[in-house]
Amino acid sequence: MTSNARWDEEVDVVVVGGGCGGMSAALACSILGLSVVLCEKTDQVGGTTSTSAGTIWIPLTKAALAGDQADSREQVERYLAGLIPNATISARLRAFLDAGPKMLDFFALHTAALRFLLVARHPDYRFDVPGATVGGRALIPPVFDGRLLGKDFDRVRPPIREFMPLGGMMVGKDDIAPLLHPLASVSAFRHACTLLFRYASDRLRYRRGTRLVMGNALVARLLHSLRQRQVPIRFEASLDELVMEQGRVIGLTVKQSDGPRTLRARKGVVLATGGFGGSAALRAQYLPQPPAEATAGFTGNTADAIRLAVKSGAAIDTNHVTPTFWVPVSVMKRSDGTTARYPHIVLDRAKPGLIAIDGTGKRFTNEADSYHDFVLAMYANYEQTQSLATHLICDARFLRDYGLGLIYPKTRDLDPYLAMGYLKCGKTLEDLAHAIAVDGSALVRTVARYNEHAARGDDPDFGKGASILNRHNGDPTVKPNPCVRPIGAGPYYAVSVFPSDLSTSVGLSADEHARVLDEKGAPLTGLYVCGADMSSVMQGAYPGPGTTLGPAMTFAYLAAHHLAALETSRDAELSNAVEAPPARLFAQVNG
Ligand SMILES: Cc1cc2nc3c(=O)[nH]c(=O)nc-3n(C[C@H](O)[C@H](O)[C@H](O)COP(=O)(O)OP(=O)(O)OC[C@H]3O[C@@H](n4cnc5c(N)ncnc54)[C@H](O)[C@@H]3O)c2cc1C
Repeated sequence: MTSNARWDEEVDVVVVGGGCGGMSAALACSILGLSVVLCEKTDQVGGTTSTSAGTIWIPLTKAALAGDQADSREQVERYLAGLIPNATISARLRAFLDAGPKMLDFFALHTAALRFLLVARHPDYRFDVPGATVGGRALIPPVFDGRLLGKDFDRVRPPIREFMPLGGMMVGKDDIAPLLHPLASVSAFRHACTLLFRYASDRLRYRRGTRLVMGNALVARLLHSLRQRQVPIRFEASLDELVMEQGRVIGLTVKQSDGPRTLRARKGVVLATGGFGGSAALRAQYLPQPPAEATAGFTGNTADAIRLAVKSGAAIDTNHVTPTFWVPVSVMKRSDGTTARYPHIVLDRAKPGLIAIDGTGKRFTNEADSYHDFVLAMYANYEQTQSLATHLICDARFLRDYGLGLIYPKTRDLDPYLAMGYLKCGKTLEDLAHAIAVDGSALVRTVARYNEHAARGDDPDFGKGASILNRHNGDPTVKPNPCVRPIGAGPYYAVSVFPSDLSTSVGLSADEHARVLDEKGAPLTGLYVCGADMSSVMQGAYPGPGTTLGPAMTFAYLAAHHLAALETSRDAELSNAVEAPPARLFAQVNG
């Protein structure tokens, strides 16, 4: 759309999309003195960010440098060069590495709530590539007290329903053991009681628990910071058109329930509508065949901004190792007719006594590798077998100890899961094979071979438990290999998994200032991008936990600086005022 003379509102910057990318951009713009408005399509902020783990991958932060993990720029670059196509460190990647730690200091200095904690041990995902570290690059948002948001608590999109036990309690990784084994120690008992008491009292006043962790804590911290700075947020304002004048973007129109509204953006527009995970057309265009399940992210991210930017001359960067960030999901129809997609991230695959088999009844990969690499292995196996069929197999003891997908550990009544066809069961391996349409003798042979070595904690075929990442997600009480123990007596169980995505990687071409680029690589004046709308700086590689949210926040910060015509080096001075946060993770801050 070209310029028209009438504007309903005029500001320096309009940001579109209220997830991590858009909220960070709006916040950074406001801190830098720009007038800014945030437009969000739905009645809640958070998008996929709210259902995420909220981890950000930012190497070489102050906290990391003060900690005991040795790391260096050279080591980080060696690692990334080994993962990313063409093995070059692009200007955009350099900008990410330079600006990431500054971005954290900037938000820590200028907001009361936007803080992160370094997780001392949170391994990178690819230990076969030189430069990976055991910890020091991943940070998480501390627990946040949702009550601090007042009425705005309802504006935070809730996490995936099945991630909230008791119908609405958020549980972080550190809460799981105390809740499962409250009698293990005095501190476990105290922790479990505190969580349950807090949740019970929350439910007298709120629709869900207010002790927020992971992605929900991140979204709440961003919303709290935006409200503190009085940044206007237009809810149910969906980007409809970009307004161009003489080749530059000068504003946009949003659709609202009471009609369209035009917003003039004197300095620029930042696109952050969460990528194309919810767009059937773009999934068909960019994702491999056979098709993946629907996205595990927010289905309302229908590539609206990407399509409009392309109409305005933007290019899509497809030079990616793989077009999306993968995760295996299991799928169950809920009783209300909606579909639950459970992302198998860290809680079951790496644990001892589980194997993944394909449609021929054979194992095909190391089950404990990252979710991204697991799905890449499913597609590689498809080349051999012409099928993506994949089943996670375990015995009853495994199911009781660790749970499987939607089934929590210690679940006594498996009937609802069996009745829905989510869980398949067999008294013998042959029975189970029959239930999942796999050759029985093949499954028996696979389990026998796995068990032969598992008794010694070995997995010569796929090396389950060989890498630091594998062992990190295993069960440390199982020796000698925390990821391997024999599959015991029946009954046996299976849950089928399918490829899905956490967030898309292919996206709008952009430079190191987060400016959108055209086909010739020239910036489109007035148009910026961050989050999953931007072609990922990792080009489809998945270095470690926080691969998308770390860059989303960093390019939001860089876009704001470019819009304000300020150098980030100015922040270096300011950031001296920021103390290194503690290197050790402590989970209860502000909780
Ligand atoms: C289970 C799970 C766990 C994950 N864990 C992590 C993790 O720990 N670390 C990590 O780095 N990544 C993680 N991810 C991926 C990460 O959550 C996403 O990459 C990230 O949230 C994308 O942020 P975003 O701001 O681009 O989009 P979103 O957070 O999805 O926000 C996009 C927003 O734009 C709005 N919008 C869409 N269209 C329009 C429109 N036309 N007009 C206005 N607004 C619009 C949407 O309503 C939404 O609110 C995880 C994903 C999942 C599913």
